[in-house]
Amino acid sequence: MNRFESKTVVITGGNRGIGLAVAERFALEGASIVLASVEPQVEEAAEALCMTGAKAIGVICDVTEREAVAALYDRAEEAFGAVDISMQNAGIITIRRIEDLSERDWDATMAVNTKGVFLCCQEAIARMRKSGKGGRLINTASGQARDGFIFTPHYAASKMGVVGITQSLAKEVALERITVNAICPGIIQSEMWDYNDKIWGEMLGDYAPGELMKDWVENKIPMKRAGTGKDVAGLVAFLASEDAEYITGQTINVDGGLIMS
Ligand code: NDP
Repeated sequence: MNRFESKTVVITGGNRGIGLAVAERFALEGASIVLASVEPQVEEAAEALCMTGAKAIGVICDVTEREAVAALYDRAEEAFGAVDISMQNAGIITIRRIEDLSERDWDATMAVNTKGVFLCCQEAIARMRKSGKGGRLINTASGQARDGFIFTPHYAASKMGVVGITQSLAKEVALERITVNAICPGIIQSEMWDYNDKIWGEMLGDYAPGELMKDWVENKIPMKRAGTGKDVAGLVAFLASEDAEYITGQTINVDGGLIMS
């Protein structure tokens, strides 16, 4: 299928993990892709996509900085024309007991996970309004936007904030052919989950690496497997497609049934 042949997609946190899997899916379906993240590795990730025949560029962009975000969308427009789809996916996590949770942890998490989503949505909406073509915004929240997990109040707050941004903006732009939706991945294999598995594992009961994931998969996820970036990419591609034209302001879990509310 080439559903996204004439579409330009921006994906923050696109150089690895979930963001890269989403990029690969859009590439398969013909989109022009702009990957953004803080490390120069983002340029290599874009080059690797181009080697497969995709149209892609990598842009170094810290989503917490307004000027960098504006420059990201400038680069996207220069390279491929108006942005049609913007996925706000960059995210960070730390796991701390409340007595060890610093203001620095709190501020950094809010800055990337929540303010970063705000800045990118603001910029993308301005561009989509200018192009007059409408557009799709997809914000990466988390299972923690449904049910805050232990030792991560800052992360849970940041992701619940993403749901609030999504709902409020969806109402504001509903008449402009722009939809805004959020996704809640559960346990998805990535570097972030490796960190979660290690630190939660140590804090929750001295699990060896991989054991916490195994325990959750066997005992908490009805489908009894961890998710992959591909699982998330399927949902994102649907939300970006014409089939999802009438869906906005929604928050959708992609987690094998881990959370059902
Ligand atoms: P990874 O840790 O593998 O990737 C995180 C991505 O975010 C990287 O591309 C990183 O870029 C980027 N990033 C971090 N800080 C910034 C910043 N300031 N500006 C721009 N980019 C930044 O995580 P995942 O792929 O697992 O997670 C992707 C999203 O999914 C996150 O929002 C996460 O919270 C969410 N999520 C993940 C789950 C999971 O189980 N994996 C579960 C629920 C939600 P760089 O490499 O340059 O540092």
